Amino acid sequence: MSAATGAVTDALRELHTRYAGADEGELADYIPELALADPGAFGLALISMDGHRYSAGDAGVPFTVQSVSKPFVYALALSLLGLDEVSRWVNAEPSGEAFNAISLERGTGRPANAMVNAGAIVATALVPDAPGAPRFERILDCLSRFAGRKLDVDEEVYASEAATGDRNRALAHLIRSTGPLPMDPVAAVETYFRQCAVRVTALDLAAMAATLAHGGVNPLTGDRVVPEHVAAQVLAVMATCGMYDASGDWLLRVGLPAKSGVSGGLIAAGPARFGLAAYSPLLDPTGTSVRGRLAIRTLSDRLGLHLMHNPALAGATVTLVTTADELPAVPAGERERARRERVAVAAAQGALDFTAAERVLYALDEAGAGRTGAAVLDLVRVTDLDTVARAMLRGGLARLAADGRRTAVADPDGRLREPGEKTGTVRSFTSRDEAVAWCAATASG
Ligand code: GLU
Repeated sequence: MSAATGAVTDALRELHTRYAGADEGELADYIPELALADPGAFGLALISMDGHRYSAGDAGVPFTVQSVSKPFVYALALSLLGLDEVSRWVNAEPSGEAFNAISLERGTGRPANAMVNAGAIVATALVPDAPGAPRFERILDCLSRFAGRKLDVDEEVYASEAATGDRNRALAHLIRSTGPLPMDPVAAVETYFRQCAVRVTALDLAAMAATLAHGGVNPLTGDRVVPEHVAAQVLAVMATCGMYDASGDWLLRVGLPAKSGVSGGLIAAGPARFGLAAYSPLLDPTGTSVRGRLAIRTLSDRLGLHLMHNPALAGATVTLVTTADELPAVPAGERERARRERVAVAAAQGALDFTAAERVLYALDEAGAGRTGAAVLDLVRVTDLDTVARAMLRGGLARLAADGRRTAVADPDGRLREPGEKTGTVRSFTSRDEAVAWCAATASG
């Protein structure tokens, strides 16, 4: 086993061993077929943004997706109709209530959010039938693309919920009675039962969560399942509403967007980091898998995964703040030294985003660019510039140039250029020495 495989698999295995004996909780039995699940089943899976798969225990055991389908069908509705249209019919406020509560807004009848049953039934109803692709086929296809393989329906579980799902039907009737909906939630509730009965494994759920974490692109197949902004919208609603009446406590203690389901599935997503899933059918009173909750919470604690816990790595971005005369290889001579003294130099490394770009520009000011003289920005060791960082650095250098100051970059890979731009607007060199030499040669002094 390789180093990474060993480290991550060991962490999952250790949690599996640690919590396999936790046997409090109950099997869901209001859908009779779910009460037949093996109470000892317990699987964990993690999929990275590179599509690396890790698992422990029963990660390949099939079960029905139930409410873990909700964020993905919401994603489909958002992709087809957009946030404004979807929000007219289903809100995005935490209800603080149980999954099957009559969570409807006073006056309009709009469900609180798409993670509770009322809102999920509306989200399902919003997916229109298309020629050759009825609503359920579109949903099944979407769930399959999130998982990265063709999924199917557990007909026994479907029949079991269809035979006993009067509360959800009643909810659908109530919703229909409250407003001028563009679709029929009563007709859609049967599709909702089918969507809940789609069969998955913990590894499938980890892939689905990883796809949301990866901006809507499945990291196993490379398939763009939903647009990036939709993935972010869904993660936001999972963060505030995904755990029903335990959502606030979960965000506080675990700090990851998540969704639970009554068959014992539980997903959590670390944006741009990983998708995580657990399966274990014994549930706590909020309808969340007991072992799944314990395992994911402990993993988040141990690996520092809480979203709000992002210690800034000071100094990791900026590697040098100086003036050119302090650099090695300064040619002898007072005049030359004085010229180079007027050249501010800052160097950066790694992937630059908004936060990093702010640090780089601040460093350039600290180096002296905030006062007089020329400025050199060394991007030789920068591995990526996102569009925001590029615009900020270009803007910062342009402001110096507008003050009549000489500016140059060491940018051998042309990262500061806009895509498609041939010669940059900033004077660019392949090395810091060349950039400094150009600035110093022409600096007054
Ligand atoms: N099919 C279930 C229901 O609608 C899903 C509930 C859940 O997983 O929380 O009652």
